[in-house]
Amino acid sequence: MALWTWYDATVKRIEHISVHTRRFWVELEGVEDFAFKAGQFITVDLPISEKRTERWRSYSIANPPRGGSELELCISDQGGPASTYFFKEVEVGMTLRLKGPSGVFTLPEDLPEELVMVCTGTGVAPFRSMIWHLYDRGYGGRVHLIFGTRYAWDILYRKEFEVLQEDWPAFKYDVVLSREKDWQGRKGHVHQVYLEAYAEPSDNRLFFLCGWTPMIDEAKKLLVEELGYKAQQLRVELYG
Ligand SMILES: Cc1cc2nc3c(=O)[nH]c(=O)nc-3n(C[C@H](O)[C@H](O)[C@H](O)COP(=O)(O)OP(=O)(O)OC[C@H]3O[C@@H](n4cnc5c(N)ncnc54)[C@H](O)[C@@H]3O)c2cc1C
Repeated sequence: MALWTWYDATVKRIEHISVHTRRFWVELEGVEDFAFKAGQFITVDLPISEKRTERWRSYSIANPPRGGSELELCISDQGGPASTYFFKEVEVGMTLRLKGPSGVFTLPEDLPEELVMVCTGTGVAPFRSMIWHLYDRGYGGRVHLIFGTRYAWDILYRKEFEVLQEDWPAFKYDVVLSREKDWQGRKGHVHQVYLEAYAEPSDNRLFFLCGWTPMIDEAKKLLVEELGYKAQQLRVELYG
């Protein structure tokens, strides 16, 4: 028996979400209901190398599990072989080969009172899935999304999260920009936000961290060593 099920997925729609980031909607062929947990990812086999292991790249599922076989991916152009392929070659109607769902970066069965989600760039993708899933379930606790990037034009899903914050009192949304000069909101890095807001540790709080090594390493150090949170209160998804 094969260890993985590989699916053919048709690219249904592509949209710019920022200058360097696009949303790709793919539909799995021959699948009625693709079961996954909010926060999980899929792995795509791209024709970018002879070697199998060099062809595989993972992408978080950005939509919540609501049934059906369509998945949304939110992919930024990093200039490497995979993202260049997505930006230069992938078109509506094409077939991609993918497997999944994978990963344990998911919500626990017993939800704590507070969920703090910290990300930079496309690290927001699994959080978008989790946040809408929590909303669908009528989660009664508090969710705080802390999103960091460099410039205002790179804020992902901004309108959507701003509207959700208006509609759903449980949800708080903070954007932090590190390089934007004319920004009226918070400037700097994501770390400052949780250092201020969650300086007093609580057992009923869980942190989810998603993105690239420097941000994750810094956040782990600050939360555990400086603020005194337990390592079990941190869930991490490392993109690279
Ligand atoms: C579990 C998982 C989920 C992921 N989900 C997503 C996702 O939802 N969206 C997404 O765009 N990517 C996601 N990635 C990253 C993705 O798999 C690729 O690494 C990315 O598309 C770059 O591939 P590449 O071939 O273009 O560049 P590579 O040649 O693989 O990488 C080039 C270099 O750039 C670094 N790098 C790559 N992307 C970034 C970035 N955005 N910011 C900073 N440094 C970067 C890499 O660490 C590497 O050093 C995920 C990775 C993992 C492991």
